[in-house]
Amino acid sequence: MNPHQRDLSVGAAVSTDPYLPRHGNGGYRVQHYDLDLEYRVSSGRLAGRAALTALAERNLAGFSLDLGPLRVDRVLVEGRPARYRHGGGKLAVRPAVPLREGAPFAVEVRYAGVPRGIRSHWGAVGWEHLDDGAMVASQPVGAPSWFPCNDRPDHKSTYATTVTTGTPLTVVAHGHLALRRTGAGATTWRYEQPVPTATYLATVQIGRYDLRETPGRIPLRAAVPARLATRCAHDFGRQDLMLAAFEEMFGPYPFDAYTVVVVDEELEVPVEAQGVSIFGANHVDGRRTHERFVAHELAHQWFGNSVTPASWRHIWLNEGFASYAEWLWSEAGGGEPADAHAARWHARLAAQPQDLLVGDPGVRRMFDDRVYRRGALTLHALRRTVGDAAFFALLRSWTAVHRHGTATTGEFIRLANRHAPYPLDTFFTTWLDTPALPPPPVPR
Ligand SMILES: [Zn+2]
Repeated sequence: MNPHQRDLSVGAAVSTDPYLPRHGNGGYRVQHYDLDLEYRVSSGRLAGRAALTALAERNLAGFSLDLGPLRVDRVLVEGRPARYRHGGGKLAVRPAVPLREGAPFAVEVRYAGVPRGIRSHWGAVGWEHLDDGAMVASQPVGAPSWFPCNDRPDHKSTYATTVTTGTPLTVVAHGHLALRRTGAGATTWRYEQPVPTATYLATVQIGRYDLRETPGRIPLRAAVPARLATRCAHDFGRQDLMLAAFEEMFGPYPFDAYTVVVVDEELEVPVEAQGVSIFGANHVDGRRTHERFVAHELAHQWFGNSVTPASWRHIWLNEGFASYAEWLWSEAGGGEPADAHAARWHARLAAQPQDLLVGDPGVRRMFDDRVYRRGALTLHALRRTVGDAAFFALLRSWTAVHRHGTATTGEFIRLANRHAPYPLDTFFTTWLDTPALPPPPVPR
């Protein structure tokens, strides 16, 4: 290693999340990402210019960004060419002039290549090529597959995402459509996202989609293949009722619109992005068979997207809550009451190994179904312990206090204690920090 390389590592290798220590970087915070992308479906080639506005949190001789195996052509810092080294998922940058603590700075990265999902414990995640387009499903480490970023859930930024691609295709990204301009054979779509957003929730969806909108205070949009339009209209047809029910239970919907994208391929599970959810063709059948997913993904807009886990060990704050929202919607929408779901899932969990801590499942098991189901049971048990009034007041307070921010399990427990007539620490220890499954919540 020459001295120059040693300098480059300054600020580059700071572990930020014990679950995913190779992702995310210390020393600075990105405030805004302006991404200008060109995508060719035929070749799968993405060419991008990422303009980042960041703030140095200490004096920095260098810093690093997360970026997958795309070719970097140029890096500018404050408009001046910077030295850089790219490999192993990191783009280490050494600006011509060191950065001063507290100073804002601009970074521009030009890059290109055929994006590939980032390899992870959960397979390749991030940018995916579709037969007739592309999709992004980044949770938890896929964002660097398509743009250079500081990939950590506790940093949120605003975005502008411009995508130019073949004219017959529709582009959906997070935020509102600010521009759509058609030129010779290609159309440019620009989406602006003024709401602070975690990198894993940034998204681009490209495909042959019909765009539909159900107007309302919160417009409900759908980007769906024409052949599935009728099924989708039925399967997502109760989202307006769901939204109203969830606003009553969780507090105001945190964004100004909601878009569902149905890709014309099968997906294992739907995935959430900021103000957007992505479903597979296999999740619509015209009979609302998968309506629980519709509820789950919508609920993520509050739990996960607006209130984001400060680190991945708190994943139950996303998945336990979104899973419980499935039962809440069942109850509100004329299906089985939450008590029935809770009894059934308690019996199933009782028959499974009890070797997982919901409050700290470990990186390999953060998407284990038990985190989802026991997380939901935890909330149901809490509701039956404190009563509906206190429970839903707590949820509304939670989404208000941490709106567009980040949160930890400890913060949830502290807030819950304030909404309960007696301390709940033992309750939470039993449900979240003990492997053995507690007795089932007592039905009302
Ligand atoms: Zn989920």
